[in-house]
Amino acid sequence: MRQKIVAGNWKMNKTLEEANILATEVSGMVMDEVKGDVRVILCTPFPYLLSVKNVLGNSSRILVSAQNCSEHESGAYTGEVSASMIKSLGVSYVILGHSERRQYFGEDGKLLAKKIDVALKHGLTPIFCCGEPLSVREANGHEALVKKQIEESLFHLDAASLQKTVIAYEPVWAIGTGKTATSQQAQDMHAVIRKHLASKYGQSVADSLTILYGGSVSAANAKELFSCPDVDGGLVGGASLKSREFTEIVKSI
Ligand code: PEP
Repeated sequence: MRQKIVAGNWKMNKTLEEANILATEVSGMVMDEVKGDVRVILCTPFPYLLSVKNVLGNSSRILVSAQNCSEHESGAYTGEVSASMIKSLGVSYVILGHSERRQYFGEDGKLLAKKIDVALKHGLTPIFCCGEPLSVREANGHEALVKKQIEESLFHLDAASLQKTVIAYEPVWAIGTGKTATSQQAQDMHAVIRKHLASKYGQSVADSLTILYGGSVSAANAKELFSCPDVDGGLVGGASLKSREFTEIVKSI
């Protein structure tokens, strides 16, 4: 059975006090209302990782993630945060390759391969994001681009390392736009990703990997998206900033 995951990407939002309140509310609702087999992950800004982790306590049902890490181990990289620093807080996940990092910070497949390696080396589970911009989808190049993104950043891994990663398919045109992929579009791309992974690593490895959908997931559309056979949960941005809506999304799985 693949691990079902719903991750909330808070991006660059909230003060420390607001972050603690949101984490407290989500944690309470998830513990009371959500089945035990779903893993919930709160992807907070760096300064709140430890505090939110302390709010959540030691449950394995609800965990914390960073939103990025440096490709470097340590040293003179002012302003950067390393994988080992994140791990030393007791954090277990890190988002890598989010389209906002690709778009605004110029992160490419080669750099992301290095970040994946350093994250895995320090025992963090990467949540690796891939997905196409609108122009690429309109030109029918979405499958080729997503396959290339996966090849560039993940295909150097051996099977055991690949199995320590989570993949998030996030069509760029659906992120923060209120425009969601249809469940058919999501299922089709998730199946393409799984098939591509199977072509290199074999079917049983591909079948064991958790592939999340991200892009304007809401309480209104989560059930339909999560009912697709190859969609194992979601990476949720805007809707993860509201505890009730986020919990409803988690309950939809
Ligand atoms: C995201 O940030 O990964 C995301 C999917 O955002 P939103 O849900 O707001 O589209």
